[in-house]
Amino acid sequence: MTKPAYRRVLLKISGESFCREGESGISMAEVSSISEQVKEVASSDVELAIVCGGGNILRGKQFAEVSDTIIPSTAHYMGMLATVINALALQDALESVGVATRVQSAIRMEGVAEPFIRRRCIRHLEKGRVVILAAGTGSPFVTTDTAAALRAREIDADVVLKGTKVDGVYSDDPVKNPHAVRYTDISYQEVIEQDLQVMDAQAFHHCMEHKLPIIVFNYKKVGNIGRVIAGEKIGTRVSGVRSDAAESE
Ligand code: UDP
Repeated sequence: MTKPAYRRVLLKISGESFCREGESGISMAEVSSISEQVKEVASSDVELAIVCGGGNILRGKQFAEVSDTIIPSTAHYMGMLATVINALALQDALESVGVATRVQSAIRMEGVAEPFIRRRCIRHLEKGRVVILAAGTGSPFVTTDTAAALRAREIDADVVLKGTKVDGVYSDDPVKNPHAVRYTDISYQEVIEQDLQVMDAQAFHHCMEHKLPIIVFNYKKVGNIGRVIAGEKIGTRVSGVRSDAAESE
């Protein structure tokens, strides 16, 4: 991989990255394909923390809505535990290809993961370990997007990389509107004005308030995690810079 453009990054990967398209649960083939990309990045100088989602197993809000018995807080805790399951799968996949990792969990579970301790997390990063951050924020009613934004600030990351299955942020739904264009750069303000979907609102506002750039990109294209960390202009960068629409691919 070419020289990284960032010193320290926080990569958010959603739960759906852990399963096959349209399915749920964990597909180790999918996890391994992410691991191969991460391996390439881990051998460069960049410090990498990864926040895992849990939507492939359970999302608290949805689960609470369809259950008469489970109270919303419990459902959200179940969602956070789902992210720990994903983190453990990612850890073994990464370690199997020679990447040193640590899992840190926002909910204490000493038997399987370290607790999240900011200074220890940074120390691992400085030593070149990939730190997988599990259990979101440890508090119910938010999502792992919020965890990504908060942890990025806490560990002083240069950027939040939001891996998705689309190529970036579009002016409209590219599936429904053939004239939709992808932005290469867009400002926080424009995202709000145009009501575009980047991250959940709480996470987005946190990034905006602290001028933390977010890059939305397609992690499914092999090598894209490395490309984005190398500073290649892929996906959409959300920052203070105003829009510059690219032709949709
Ligand atoms: N969750 C939570 N607090 C957090 C992070 C996550 O309560 O700080 C719960 C929430 O119910 C969420 C679920 O964990 O729906 C799984 O996370 P998320 O939906 O963000 O996963 P993703 O959509 O990224 O796969």
